[in-house]
Amino acid sequence: MILFKNCEVYAPHYMGKKDILTAGTRILGIAGQITKPDGVEVKTIDCTGLRMIPGLIDSHVHIAGAGGEGGPASRTPELQLSHMLEAGVTSVVGCLGTDGMTRSLQAVLMKVKALRQEGVSAWMFTGSYQVPTPSMFDDVGQDIALIEEVIGVGEIALSDHRSSNPTTAELSKLAAHARVGGMLGGKCGIVNIHLGDGKSPFKPLYQVVANTEIKFKQFLPTHINRNDYIFEDAKIYGKKGYVDITASSYPYFPEYEIKPSKAIAILLSEGVPIEHITMTSDACGSLPDFDEKGNLVKLEMGYPRSVFTEMVDAVVAEKLPLEVALKTVTSNIADILWFKQKGRIDLNKDADLVVINDKYEIVHMMAMGQLMTEAGTMLKKGNYE
Ligand code: ZN
Repeated sequence: MILFKNCEVYAPHYMGKKDILTAGTRILGIAGQITKPDGVEVKTIDCTGLRMIPGLIDSHVHIAGAGGEGGPASRTPELQLSHMLEAGVTSVVGCLGTDGMTRSLQAVLMKVKALRQEGVSAWMFTGSYQVPTPSMFDDVGQDIALIEEVIGVGEIALSDHRSSNPTTAELSKLAAHARVGGMLGGKCGIVNIHLGDGKSPFKPLYQVVANTEIKFKQFLPTHINRNDYIFEDAKIYGKKGYVDITASSYPYFPEYEIKPSKAIAILLSEGVPIEHITMTSDACGSLPDFDEKGNLVKLEMGYPRSVFTEMVDAVVAEKLPLEVALKTVTSNIADILWFKQKGRIDLNKDADLVVINDKYEIVHMMAMGQLMTEAGTMLKKGNYE
């Protein structure tokens, strides 16, 4: 058991000063004052002057590596455990991305299992950019229904020169299979959509909804802050469906992008409900920049720490309350992806906790009840770090 004393708790709603007791992988007690239970070993951590927030959920990470658009040497490496810990991220959702041709879903699934063994929580989307999209069983619905780690499909690329340009019928069929697979497996069965630089990237989603029984909330479109015209469309789309902001590409393309923290504030001021807004890192994704002739001119890689930094900037620079900014990286994602044990500090939820100081530095961090960082020192690293 571990007892955190005197934390200012943001669950993400503000709960005031509380003691939090964890036992095994769960939160066992939350109260104004908890005395050490007798007869069991309890480690006490004094959190006076510190704030506790839920562990962040980063639901768009190329955990097994990605990229490669600039040739074999531009393939990105796998996510390392320390990349999550330095970001206060206790849960990730992996995806394949552009390279559904030489990389495999099996490798992503194995990386999910590896991260779980290392002590954090992980899931994945089946599929890749392309449609028809790869799957491990016969189709994406079977993957979602049968494989515990698979919660949906994506990222499916739209409006991008790397997209296979699915028709409305192909996209509808894919979303329907993901939905039914989700129903059978008790998962969200959501379709994670990569929006490229093309004009009107939300149009295929409007067409699917107009022509079928599929609802806007079947889709989770990401990269909505990648340029000003897509962001303009996102202000309207976001009133109907979910909009996911990408944190790690900023500031590599500052000439086109909307800063993620600013994007949260603008969407809210435009009347997009907070529950529709999420932010993810796109970590380990390569960040390629092409000139007008389609030549690769620049290549960078993203990290999960961008979601933490941008969440903090939403508070410090954009003056949003911490409990509002936090929702985009905790409870909103948990609700959309049906992670019932995640995203909130509450009784019986998983003990995924981050304790920060007034400079927004991570002091302590716990994932599934295991201390990962204590007094600013990371206690765990990946096996090959
Ligand atoms: Zn993408």
